[in-house]
Amino acid sequence: MDYQNTLAFAVAQDEQDVLKDFRNRFFIPKHNGEDAIYLCGNSLGLQPKSSAQYLADQMKNWESLAVEGWFQGDDPWLEYHKSLSTSIARIVGANKNEVSVMNSLTVNLHLLMVSFYKPNSKRFKVIMEGGAFPSDQYAVESQVKFHGFDPKDVVIEIFPRERELTLRTEDILKTIETHADELALVLFSGINYYTGQFFDIQAITIAAHQAGAYAGFDLAHAAGNVPLHLHEWDADFACWCSYKYMNSGPGGISGIFVHEKHFTDSAMNRFAGWWGYRADKRFLMAPGFDPALGADGWQVSTSPILLLALFKASMAIFDEVGNIGMLREKGVALTGYLEFLINEINKTKGEEVFRIITPANPAIRGSQLSIVCTQNAKAIFKYLAENGVIGDWREPDVIRLSPVPLYNSFKDVYKAAKHLSDALDAVK
Ligand SMILES: *Cc1c(COP(=O)(O)O)cnc(C)c1O
Repeated sequence: MDYQNTLAFAVAQDEQDVLKDFRNRFFIPKHNGEDAIYLCGNSLGLQPKSSAQYLADQMKNWESLAVEGWFQGDDPWLEYHKSLSTSIARIVGANKNEVSVMNSLTVNLHLLMVSFYKPNSKRFKVIMEGGAFPSDQYAVESQVKFHGFDPKDVVIEIFPRERELTLRTEDILKTIETHADELALVLFSGINYYTGQFFDIQAITIAAHQAGAYAGFDLAHAAGNVPLHLHEWDADFACWCSYKYMNSGPGGISGIFVHEKHFTDSAMNRFAGWWGYRADKRFLMAPGFDPALGADGWQVSTSPILLLALFKASMAIFDEVGNIGMLREKGVALTGYLEFLINEINKTKGEEVFRIITPANPAIRGSQLSIVCTQNAKAIFKYLAENGVIGDWREPDVIRLSPVPLYNSFKDVYKAAKHLSDALDAVK
């Protein structure tokens, strides 16, 4: 796309945008009485205006049906999670029974590692990207210790080459091959939260399988952001949260994917609970765990219906868009526009005042740019906030800006860049 550094260009792009009306479905926070420039959907997605009604409907069911709500009403709670599986399956590229919704993300990562990380004296190593989201690092470290191993001997982190900012796929594959004999699990994010790099899930999976290991993915920053084909890519498992790109509210429900080829593997460990029991026999309350066939078989506890209702409001919006490819196309265009404008600032200043560490290739990033401020970083971030640009800060000097195609506009991006540029003079 031929971008231009003018407000008129941004406005014209917005007028042509086929998704432009979706912005009206969300509450946009205000700054001095005007819409804030919210570029933080990678941390907490905005609230759909419909969310309150979805929540109210279930409060009403609770009020009028009470316990009968599990079996009655237009959407009985017992099967409520199933009404979400078509939408979720489309977003992550899975069969309906390969996905489920339950718990929160790190909890699910633990539960899935119980199944997919079963180290022995020969195979015990875990390969991860260096600088993974801390919660994932802690989860892995504690799982490793739980099995009686020392994380130092077990966890292999892959870092970028010297003077490079992101990982090369070839280096990831090579590391997997190098440790093949002792490798139990490759656990990667889909998109790294810090750099915004979108990893080659399929290539990583193939390499892990060739090494005789499982491949699992934390898709917190990928689900609802980039097109995914988990079934086709043959990933063993994945989990994600729904409160980032999927707008289901703070601490919203998490989702899981388990490839169907594992459904009948009875040698696989599970931390079981009654909600994972096969639905037709759950209420016989018989001894002996007999899991549901599918990702639902990994459920543990009673469905949190109010959280699911919030998620359902969001899924209805994704369903209406229908084609995640359309969101992707706009996300690529918005992110590219932000990149173009930042490069313009650098050109004007005659130096790289803002260094983008997210890959320049749109195919290997989502709707996010991580920007190193080479001077006055903290003050620039503060200036942005004071001027209604909401991004997020990562130590020591990174600002992440995330233009989300469902509710951000080219005008948002233009204005954000203008404030970035103004900040340089204001905070001198
Ligand atoms: C956001 C995020 C989390 C957060 O996990 P919670 O259990 O929802 O607090 C974990 N991992 C990654 C990679 C994330 O991006």
